[in-house]
Amino acid sequence: MDLELLERTLADAGEPAFRARQVWEWLARGAADYEAMSNLPGALRARLARELPLSTLELREESRARDGTRKALFHTRDHRPLEAVAMRFADGRRSVCLSSQSGCPLTCTFCATGSMRFARNLTASEIIDQALHFRRTEPLSHCVFMGMGEPMLNLDSVLEACARLPDIGISHRRVTISTVGWIPGIERLADSGLPVRLALSLHAPEDALRSELMPINERFPLSDVLQACRAFHARRRRRVFVEYVMLAGVNDRYEQALALARLLGGPGEAVFKVNLIPYNPTHAAFRGSSRAAIGSFKAALTEHGIPATVRLTRGREIDAACGQLAAAREQSPSAAPAAP
Ligand code: SAH
Repeated sequence: MDLELLERTLADAGEPAFRARQVWEWLARGAADYEAMSNLPGALRARLARELPLSTLELREESRARDGTRKALFHTRDHRPLEAVAMRFADGRRSVCLSSQSGCPLTCTFCATGSMRFARNLTASEIIDQALHFRRTEPLSHCVFMGMGEPMLNLDSVLEACARLPDIGISHRRVTISTVGWIPGIERLADSGLPVRLALSLHAPEDALRSELMPINERFPLSDVLQACRAFHARRRRRVFVEYVMLAGVNDRYEQALALARLLGGPGEAVFKVNLIPYNPTHAAFRGSSRAAIGSFKAALTEHGIPATVRLTRGREIDAACGQLAAAREQSPSAAPAAP
């Protein structure tokens, strides 16, 4: 829902200001059309249905994996592609993974999104409409900004969208914003006062390798990024998650686990928790670490005082897993729907 346009449309119709709130509350509870909004006058419902689309996004395609993961491909009004994913977990969590940009201007070598063309930042309404899409069919409990794009490069819209999430049923404590380590964004998030969680995509325990994998490291090197994360933790008192994608023969050696533990450890309270991510295949020339290698890496971290978990892989068969979002179908002519 274009929330500004909603207010304007209602004002033009001479409606009182509280109507926008009513419409929003219906949407946040999963209403799929204006007809369902029974506390709005019938004539107004009909007028809104004529004048104001329920979503800023057009759903182009939706796929579902055997594990229950759903991936939706949307287009904005100006035909920019983006994807969002909803995941179900055995403990009952239902997590939605949102995109903050169409494409991504950063060029992390192992990530499929980095290889598609960057289009633009998404508006707050376009971000929230991704969540509303899934909310129409299922309740949601968690949200991660781990879809396409770098949230810190579009932080105003991301924060504006975050402000709406509790209405949808996702409290701020259950929201995670993931970043490549864009320090000004980490600092602003710390200042924002929102109790959301911060995740840092780290992927290497030393600068030379990290710069190779993630060119952004040239601009914001490791020690500065980790210092910003420690400052975030000091302000917000929440563990920072470190994401570390496991690449065979690249960053998965025992010594590298020790180096990572040294980097993240230190005196006093534990700041970091590592989330090891099995590599999901993209077009890049990497191989994922074996299960055994991931297990040893994890053991080395925990033995040295750094808590670590291995991320459950969801939705790989529909290219919905971490790093696989690339709006591929829209980009590849060979995969275009056959003519009738
Ligand atoms: N730009 C932000 C938000 C995207 S989060 C960030 O990078 O943090 C997406 C996560 O998936 C990041 O941690 C990213 O490094 C990771 N990722 C990217 N490509 C991947 C791949 N092929 N396999 C597994 N994880 C990947």
